[in-house]
Amino acid sequence: MAGFAGNGVPSREALLATVRWPRPSRLAQPLPLKGKAAQAAESLELRSVGDLLEHAPRARREGRTVAGLNRGDTATVVVEVRAITQRPVRRRGMRPLVEATVADETGPMVATFFNQPWLARRYPPGTRLVLHGKYEARNRFRVASHAQTDEAAEGGEDVSHYPAAEGLSSTQILALMREARPALAEVYEPLPARLRVSERLAPRAAALEALHFGADAHAVEAGRRRLAFEELLLLQLALLARRAARAGKRRALALDAPATVSKRWLEVGLPFALTGDQQAAISEIAAELAGSRPAQRLLMGEVGSGKTVVALYAMLRAVDCGAQAALMAPTETLAEQHFATIQRLLGSEPVTLALLTGSTPAARRAQLLARLASGGLSLIVGTHALIEEPVRFRSLAVAVVDEQHRFGVRQRAALDAKAQSGLAPHLLHMTATPIPRTLALCNYGDLDQTRLRQLPARRQPIATHIVSGTRARARAYERIAEEIHAGRQAFVVCPLVEQADEPDAGDVRAATAEFERLRAGELRDFRVVLIHGQLPHRAKQAAMAAFAAGEADVLVATTVIEVGIDVPNAAVMLIENAERFGISQLHQLRGRVGRGEHAALCLLCGPRDSPRLAALAEHDDGFALAEIDLRLRKEGELIGTRQSGLGQFAIARMPEDEALLTSARNWATRLIDRDPELGQPEHLLLARAIARVHGEIEARAIAA
Ligand code: ADP
Ligand code: MG
Repeated sequence: MAGFAGNGVPSREALLATVRWPRPSRLAQPLPLKGKAAQAAESLELRSVGDLLEHAPRARREGRTVAGLNRGDTATVVVEVRAITQRPVRRRGMRPLVEATVADETGPMVATFFNQPWLARRYPPGTRLVLHGKYEARNRFRVASHAQTDEAAEGGEDVSHYPAAEGLSSTQILALMREARPALAEVYEPLPARLRVSERLAPRAAALEALHFGADAHAVEAGRRRLAFEELLLLQLALLARRAARAGKRRALALDAPATVSKRWLEVGLPFALTGDQQAAISEIAAELAGSRPAQRLLMGEVGSGKTVVALYAMLRAVDCGAQAALMAPTETLAEQHFATIQRLLGSEPVTLALLTGSTPAARRAQLLARLASGGLSLIVGTHALIEEPVRFRSLAVAVVDEQHRFGVRQRAALDAKAQSGLAPHLLHMTATPIPRTLALCNYGDLDQTRLRQLPARRQPIATHIVSGTRARARAYERIAEEIHAGRQAFVVCPLVEQADEPDAGDVRAATAEFERLRAGELRDFRVVLIHGQLPHRAKQAAMAAFAAGEADVLVATTVIEVGIDVPNAAVMLIENAERFGISQLHQLRGRVGRGEHAALCLLCGPRDSPRLAALAEHDDGFALAEIDLRLRKEGELIGTRQSGLGQFAIARMPEDEALLTSARNWATRLIDRDPELGQPEHLLLARAIARVHGEIEARAIAA
């Protein structure tokens, strides 16, 4: 905008007066950028002045003065140009070098700009600049990025560093931010006064000001926390509003008839006693199903924790009340597995049950649909085929959905539409991923949550040890041999298939090499087979079949065994280069042992001081491990992992801001309880902020 100043050009004010902005707010004004810089801004989603002010700094660095710089320092300084020239560079192909004498209050230095000869004209003496670069010998400053700034070259002030993009440096963003500072006056306050007073929160504009320009680290952090709280509050409000929208629109069938089928099944039908967690889950769910508010619950528990038993109980409560229940799985294979499990769990209980998937033959399908519509069929297990248009239920009261993350909003709406008109089924989602509490609140905050932590008694605890050094390794092979002599089987898991997969892998072990080495070495007395993803399908099957049938003692493998292998006689697993795997992956892997009646052993080869390996050695509970995992990870590392959902915040940081999240959740609950649609006058700006930040979630609330 500085570009408008100058001879013969109308003043900025004069220009502005002639322009009719579509929205008068200064916050809505586009950023004064062109070309590459504009593209870069677009890629950072910075379009308007308002967007810019929301762009949180990545870090805050101590402000530097010219006199305070030491040779080799990388720093940001604010200076004024005293003189500027260009001179040719001797090396061929290089454009002239620009040298500027620049200074702040503490003294001058020579700034050098490479390959940008035009700067000599763009930055005439008197121009104030923010420079980021390296201070070198002979009082020279090699500039890496630079931007013009309006502020006085005072020097020594702390500077914010911003997430930047090719074509728009952090320094340029900083300069834009300083220019935009007056627009902070137009930032509106979304939080109701009552909340702000009671939590003693600064106004939003003041918090933003502190975030960008705070005098010290303390002020910046205070601003950040205020904004983080708001960000978390808006998310929780959006989630709870969505939840309230569904609950407000439709009633559910209250499943409050006396327990008959379900009771008999629990007492006589089940061949085992429930775990404490299962019992607690069942009473919680039974109470909820008895109400006419549609249940929206997430049931979390690792594979084998007994979720299906709890889900089947809920389904049988529907049967008790003369209604129907459905279980929906993401794939045909999973649907078939659930069907088989439920059939087995039901035992001789006289309850009608069927399977419906995409490959159900047409005639059978027609027959099933007729029975569902007439109520002649009580329970059905299937894929998304269950919510297709022609499927009609006489009275669908309970719907169980396996693996919530593959079940979108449209599916939910389609499912709701299957209940009798005006009603919605009670919904129970199941997931096998242990999700830390914080993540669950952020990602599934619209669902009530039940956790099954205990594994059924039949499963054996897995003693886990870290194996470090040659002596320990020799002892590990002895333990494996002992187990095999006792009739058990063993897994050896390697991170690589072939050494050549990773040329610099150093001492990372490969399954193929380890297979050859072990069967000629430590495990030569035993029958060793190999499996990895690059083997032909038949070879894989042969290896698996041999191991499953007990014809092989040792299975050397890659992580292909992570899922789906169930060999109850396998009692020991040795994992090579365990430090290369994530906590949850190691936990999944070791879940392959201890599935029978034998005590199980997991040997993790890796550094003794690894906190992740230590966590596995100490804890058997997937939820505890997920919490530790969260704490051990650094921010950013989480993006792209299965547990992503932490990268979703602009300002808040997890798990550091956990306390803020709890408080935000409490406030959101209270606000939504009092004003479910946030329609009261003091909540209007809040509702507007939610719409802006979480338009998508809001839209979903309407769809559901
Ligand atoms: P999930 O669905 O969580 O993977 P399931 O409900 O399918 O777990 O149960 C896994 C296995 O454990 C099944 O074979 C089931 O019969 C058995 N099981 C479930 N609960 C118990 C229990 N309380 N005691 C013993 N075995 C159980
Ligand atoms: Mg199951």
